Amino acid sequence: MREYSNIQVQYRVEKIISNPLMMVGNFRKVREEYDMTVQNTCFRCGRKFKDDDNIWIVSSHEKGNRFICEECANEIKKEIERENSK
Ligand SMILES: [Zn+2]
Repeated sequence: MREYSNIQVQYRVEKIISNPLMMVGNFRKVREEYDMTVQNTCFRCGRKFKDDDNIWIVSSHEKGNRFICEECANEIKKEIERENSK
C-alpha cells in the first residue's frame, strides 16, 4: 500500500468511494439541519467544495473517511492503478 501525504498528515489509502446519489450541497444541507459539522474543503488539496460537486471519500486507517474532490479522487485512483500494475 502506498503512503500519501498532504500538509498535515500522512495516511495510507485503503479505498476511494464515490457517492453518486448525493452532491456536496445536498449533504451540507442535511447536516446543517441537524447542527452537524460539514467538511467544506478537500482533505487532500484544500480546495473549497461547490454545491454541485460529486461526493468522493478517501478511506484510511489514520484519518477515517474524508471528503476529497473529484480531481484528487482521480489522481489517487490512477496512482493505485500504477501501483497495482507493477
Ligand atoms: Zn482535492
